[in-house]
Amino acid sequence: MFSVIIPAYNEEEIIPKTAKVIDEILSSESIDHELIFVNDGSKDSTWEKISEQSKLIPSVKGIGFSRNFGKESAIFAGIAEAKGDCCAVIDCDLQHPPEKLVEMYRLWEQGYEIVEGVKKSRGRESSFHKLAAKSFYGIMSSAVGFDMSRASDFKLLDRKAINVLLNMNEKNAFFRALSSWIGFKSTEVEYEVREREAGTSKWSTRALFKYALTNITSFTSAPMQVVTILGLIVFVVGLGASIEALVQFFRHNAQDGFTTVIILQCFTGSFIMFALGIIGFYISKIYEEVKGRPKYIIDKTTED
Ligand code: UDP
Ligand code: MG
Repeated sequence: MFSVIIPAYNEEEIIPKTAKVIDEILSSESIDHELIFVNDGSKDSTWEKISEQSKLIPSVKGIGFSRNFGKESAIFAGIAEAKGDCCAVIDCDLQHPPEKLVEMYRLWEQGYEIVEGVKKSRGRESSFHKLAAKSFYGIMSSAVGFDMSRASDFKLLDRKAINVLLNMNEKNAFFRALSSWIGFKSTEVEYEVREREAGTSKWSTRALFKYALTNITSFTSAPMQVVTILGLIVFVVGLGASIEALVQFFRHNAQDGFTTVIILQCFTGSFIMFALGIIGFYISKIYEEVKGRPKYIIDKTTED
């Protein structure tokens, strides 16, 4: 069975259409499927629409959150509920072309375990949004070790990958990066981002900023090392300033005590920063341990 997970937050206008379109496409290809709508604590009648559809279309199922927990949580709830041998995640607003689900499914049948939906272009966005996205994906790409700039949540995962993701006990799991981090035999399907069919984007600038911060910090401890580098810079600058102060002292151009003060200032400053950097390094180790990511993921053995 093919499980399709659809996170929905305030999407009342589009639910019936999304359910109908996806169900028809998969039925016409005679792919056995279930559509799992995850209502992420919507404030409108999204839940009523989902339960209505579940009565009309047998493959539609619904899960409802007690409040808004965010898209990542909705995706993981859907994955946990999925009964299929593989599952796909798709946006509710039909910006991800549903026909591509068939293409992804066929690739899975050929033996691919992860099929990534890759954006051909990023759709229409403001230039501020573009710049912010670019810097976010720049940091993320170097943290994860591969290009994330065209990555999206639109992807298909084999049961093996689903089980690995479900066994991770990270609270701030970033689905888009984690599903690539786990490895497995993967391939890509390109798609063109469509316009939203109804409603508006559910992301405010504030929400996006928070999202970027949580995801960067859940994947890399690089920001913590910034202070070490700053300590080094302050040390070098301080060394220059101290030499200059000493020269002035020996030329008898310096005010009484000024030389001692400036040298002490420069060195204590840089030593404190170094010390913070070292502490930061240990914290980053603790943080990696706390996340409890597996040391390795076994794909197959000759015993299977
Ligand atoms: N979504 C969600 N919870 C949220 C925000 C969004 O489940 O807190 C869902 C939303 O219903 C949609 C998908 O995530 O199915 C993508 O959201 P949206 O279209 O607003 O994002 P954009 O396409 O603008 O990146
Ligand atoms: Mg959208």
